[in-house]
Amino acid sequence: MPIKKCRYCNSMILAKGLCKKHYFRKYWKTNRNRLKLKKSLYLKTQFGFLTKLYKNMKDRVSGTLKNSAHLYKGKPILPKSTFYKWAISNPKYIELYNVYVASGYDRKLAPSIDRINPDKGYTMSNIEWVTNSENCRRASITKLRLRG
Ligand SMILES: [Zn+2]
Repeated sequence: MPIKKCRYCNSMILAKGLCKKHYFRKYWKTNRNRLKLKKSLYLKTQFGFLTKLYKNMKDRVSGTLKNSAHLYKGKPILPKSTFYKWAISNPKYIELYNVYVASGYDRKLAPSIDRINPDKGYTMSNIEWVTNSENCRRASITKLRLRG
């Protein structure tokens, strides 16, 4: 896969089609909410991205997301620290994360956690890494099966 480059130079993309230097030049001074900007950048780092993923899983099993509560609510989830420890050094995660970064943070290529058995929760033996688009594809197949 070709590595996406900044609009103005040959560096890798950080956000909005721009490298770190050009991104900050354009947005940092004009952005009133620097904390928000900092947070969005943190969530793109190899570790920060995991914190976002874990929060999404947690929201699903706690039933916060209304439209998917029937699929996830009350299902078990592994502890946060266990998830981080497992994920941060997982070769599949590192591989997917690097492709995601190289694509200029293409959402379809974002690493995602899939449950091998959709009837079970987010437990160590039931989770695996896939790309976001692969996860959506699998989810739609599961929905079709439930309907049929
Ligand atoms: Zn640049």
